[in-house]
Amino acid sequence: MDATMLSEIEGLRVHITGVVQGVGFRPFVYNLARRYELVGWVRNSSSGVDIEINGPTEALDSFINALTAELPPLANIDHLETAPCPSNGFTDFTIVESRSEQGAYQPISPDMAVCPDCLRELFDSTDRRYRYPFINCTNCGPRYTIIRDIPYDRPLTTMAGFTLCPECAAEYSNPLDRRFHAQPVACPACGPRLWLEGPDMPDDPLRDEDALQAARRLLREGRIAAVKGLGGFHLACDATNQAAVGELRRRKLRVDKPFAVMMPDMDTVRRHCVVSPAEAELLTSRARPIVILARRPKSTIAREIAPGQDNIGVMLPYSPLHYLLLEPGPGFPEALVMTSANLSEEPIAYTNDEARERLLALADALLLHDRDIHTRCDDSVMRILPNEQERSLVMPLRRSRGYAPFPARLPWPVPPLLATGGELKNTFCIARDDYAFLSHHIGDMENYETLASFEEGVAHMEHLFRVRPEIIACDMHPDYMASRYARERADREGLTLVEVQHHHAHIAAGMAEHGLSGATPVIGVAFDGTGYGDDGAIWGGEFLIADYTSYTRAAHLAYIPLAGGDLAVREPWRVALTHLHVAGLPWDNDIPAAAYGRSHLTVLRAQIERGINAPLTSSMGRLFDAAAALAGVRQAVNYEAQAAIEFEAQADPSEKKRYEFNYTNGIIDPKPVWKALLADKRSGVDVGRISARFHNGVATMVREVCCDLRERHGIDEVVLSGGVWQNVTLLRRTLTLLEREKFVVFCHSLVPANDGGLALGQAMVGGKGFE
Ligand SMILES: [Zn+2]
Ligand SMILES: [Zn+2]
Repeated sequence: MDATMLSEIEGLRVHITGVVQGVGFRPFVYNLARRYELVGWVRNSSSGVDIEINGPTEALDSFINALTAELPPLANIDHLETAPCPSNGFTDFTIVESRSEQGAYQPISPDMAVCPDCLRELFDSTDRRYRYPFINCTNCGPRYTIIRDIPYDRPLTTMAGFTLCPECAAEYSNPLDRRFHAQPVACPACGPRLWLEGPDMPDDPLRDEDALQAARRLLREGRIAAVKGLGGFHLACDATNQAAVGELRRRKLRVDKPFAVMMPDMDTVRRHCVVSPAEAELLTSRARPIVILARRPKSTIAREIAPGQDNIGVMLPYSPLHYLLLEPGPGFPEALVMTSANLSEEPIAYTNDEARERLLALADALLLHDRDIHTRCDDSVMRILPNEQERSLVMPLRRSRGYAPFPARLPWPVPPLLATGGELKNTFCIARDDYAFLSHHIGDMENYETLASFEEGVAHMEHLFRVRPEIIACDMHPDYMASRYARERADREGLTLVEVQHHHAHIAAGMAEHGLSGATPVIGVAFDGTGYGDDGAIWGGEFLIADYTSYTRAAHLAYIPLAGGDLAVREPWRVALTHLHVAGLPWDNDIPAAAYGRSHLTVLRAQIERGINAPLTSSMGRLFDAAAALAGVRQAVNYEAQAAIEFEAQADPSEKKRYEFNYTNGIIDPKPVWKALLADKRSGVDVGRISARFHNGVATMVREVCCDLRERHGIDEVVLSGGVWQNVTLLRRTLTLLEREKFVVFCHSLVPANDGGLALGQAMVGGKGFE
């Protein structure tokens, strides 16, 4: 008797949810079933993958273990349920037709960088896809950006118009092929093509390899090209050519704001930047984000890339087209600027028509293709926090391509809801059950185009994930565009509206990210530039005792009048002098801030004293601006947080001294900080040490307040959230001090600490009480 006859033949039904479609999951199951000599079937359903298998018990066990242990690279299992069933007398294992169910939904894979197998084929002259810019397989390529609807099937993607040639069709239908059911599969014979357009180009455009080489020639000559990528267009130029970078900056109206750079390989990255193992891992990950790296002093990357900073945002090629475009060659630039193709703060351009209308003023030529982008998706930006304990933490600064719309798992299920996010760096969030689908980066909601892009994005994601919101959560700010949208829609559709305080949402996002249940409150340290407070003031230096339901404001920075409103945000010298005025310190002419604003001093003084256009603020962002201005770093800014970023860049890591705050009755008063800082400035202490003393002072103040709050409330869990925590000097110092005091500290590694992570917190607060 052989072994199979001794053990009983049994049946098992398996239901799997997660990212399991369009990622090679069914061929993977098929191969496992063959390995363990099991019979039955596998099929996609609207909510995941169903399997029925028959075989000996041990083989079934091995199969289930291998399912989770050997997952295909892009797959991710959220739930796996098994139930015994009678053996059905199957004779083989097959992949059967998909079944769709009304209202069912499932997560969708983000777009992923070209895989090593496809990359090898791309540069293999014997392969039929040799140098084909749209090569992909089930393990790589576009997903979210080409999907019009679910189930994820070619006719419901922007590949619908391309009919598979016989060879591609054979690969597509062979369960043993890497391209089995790879929806965007294509080849030079049947797939999308590349061409080059521009004012100086022939009417019959250059195509394919000719277009590519002509674009490379332009770049080599220092010209600017718009290149259609996965989630939108980039503007590209030689990153080592000062004049080209300067020209791009001029055309884009982007004063001082850093440009991202793409380099062909890790060797090049290491030549220009210092790269830790954790940074290398992130750079080469399938998501291929932009990673903020320290530049080497000898790097030939133009300084104009990131004025006033020693960091550069670097990414590796992620689409096959990028690999071809950046292919090293004689005289070809070592690195290209690859910045989102838009004017100033408009959304990234993503259609060919849009490129022709909007980008010809910015670029000398357009490198186009005919695979449409359905959803625009900017590059993600990440930073690694180097930690003194040798532990590195990923800090998302922008979570978009490669990550969106991968869901966050919530600590408990919520009813269908939409959270509309903030005003700057907007993202929104659609939630149902225990999934929170975080959107791609929408941008700053300050023009009609961004609002339109927001509304399209919301409609698309509600449809994709089959969510009809019952609740809309938004920021309580009266004028945020996203909040107005929320109020109007709640009114029109009779939905429950939940307005969430800005900093409460930040802390809730931090709690949700770490799966905190909210059964006990946390100490939330929410530091940012601007958030509408429940007393109508502009908050931003806040210590909250918070859970998902409510919060109390336990401590905050002392209020100052923000004289001039928005003007004060653009001109930090105004905030600096206001701080001195409130502290009773004179505006002597030797203070850099006073010297800068000499002709406006009387007006400013009148504004402060009479409170004209001077809302009260406890903003930590403005405190950093003021310190940077008083230290002489910067009196006017061209982009958000510029003064604070440049101030931090100068901090001397060896400096141990600090400035002291006054902390009494929940009010944090910076008066002694200003006194000490001015004394240092006058006695010629260098900016590096002033900056370090300021950062050390803020970190120490956080420790002092947290210790006090622990004593009063018996809480030792601390959540750090808000854009100020992107300051790694401050974050490292604070983590060290808090952990030394045995606090359990949570900071962001899934969503940004800035307003890009706000929607997740709004969703949590909005869904609480309705679960
Ligand atoms: Zn591939
Ligand atoms: Zn083909």
